[in-house]
Amino acid sequence: MSRRDDVLSALRAGGPVSGETLAHELGVSRAAVAKHVSVLRELGYSIDAEPGAGYWLRGAPDAPLPEEVRPLLISSRWSALTGGGATGSTNDDCKRLARAGAAVGTVVLAAAQSAGRGRMGRTWESPEGGVYLSALIRPTISPAEAPPLALAAALGVAAGLATLGVEAGVKWPNDVQDARGRKLAGVLLEISAEADALEWAVIGVGLNVLRPSDPPPGAGYVSDSVSDVTRARVAAAVLDGLALALDRFDAGGFQVLRADFQSRAILTGRSVVVSDMHGSVRHEGVVQGVDTQGRLILETDTGEVTVSAGEVTLRSHAGEDPR
Ligand code: ATP
Repeated sequence: MSRRDDVLSALRAGGPVSGETLAHELGVSRAAVAKHVSVLRELGYSIDAEPGAGYWLRGAPDAPLPEEVRPLLISSRWSALTGGGATGSTNDDCKRLARAGAAVGTVVLAAAQSAGRGRMGRTWESPEGGVYLSALIRPTISPAEAPPLALAAALGVAAGLATLGVEAGVKWPNDVQDARGRKLAGVLLEISAEADALEWAVIGVGLNVLRPSDPPPGAGYVSDSVSDVTRARVAAAVLDGLALALDRFDAGGFQVLRADFQSRAILTGRSVVVSDMHGSVRHEGVVQGVDTQGRLILETDTGEVTVSAGEVTLRSHAGEDPR
């Protein structure tokens, strides 16, 4: 915990707290306390200063700030939370930290992104009202074993959202959808590898929480199904869900998550078209599930095929949303 967190948690205890008491308890000067209070105000905390009584916390911002998320986290995996305001891309920020040697468990949070990305450089619309986060991990696996990490992450996000009461399913490989098949979240996995060892992986998650005035087509929002949720709670629930899935992945690889992934998979039994990154159709068939390495199993006219990468589109039938 930083000194700023200490000041905040003393204020959270309730009532006015004098600057002198705070300074004494934290072993810092009164000027330092005043500085922390002014930074907290800049972050959106409403703090009154009552003459003769002290500082009084009146309200906290609804934002995924480390100060708000940290106290809600159950998992100890996420040891260093940063950010919380607007940024370009949390994945870019987290990759920069990873290259500079940041510890595993580093998480970059944001309330808005100006350059959010999906797979293959596609835009992830990231207006204020969402939660955008990237987590740094350094699993001891080879680069070839990395792709199912994206599936593990999507499962963790869905399971985390489910703890808030959101009915969340996974769409192979990296999307999280609501009960109506609308995209609630996307996962972007980026890795750095040396020869046959993974150096680090950054798991980026873009979460739609509050519905903006101009939502992208096919987007669903956490607030559509749960109304009283704060963005800090969404961030904490998703980080806890991710931690649990990653702990299990670390212990036994994707195969230990396979059954859970399948139970949340929205594609099983559906007719799909799989295209490559250029949009060319590679396979058409009915999804059977995923294998122990997270590859999609398809029953096609010419037999069973396994797909390790690609774009999956539901074959639309009359009245069905093709997403
Ligand atoms: P698909 O949905 O076709 O499987 P994908 O999962 O490969 O796509 P991503 O790379 O994860 O897609 O995400 C980028 C795509 O998601 C964009 O091209 C756009 O269609 C859509 N999109 C962008 N921002 C949002 C958002 N905030 N909510 C929902 N969908 C979005």
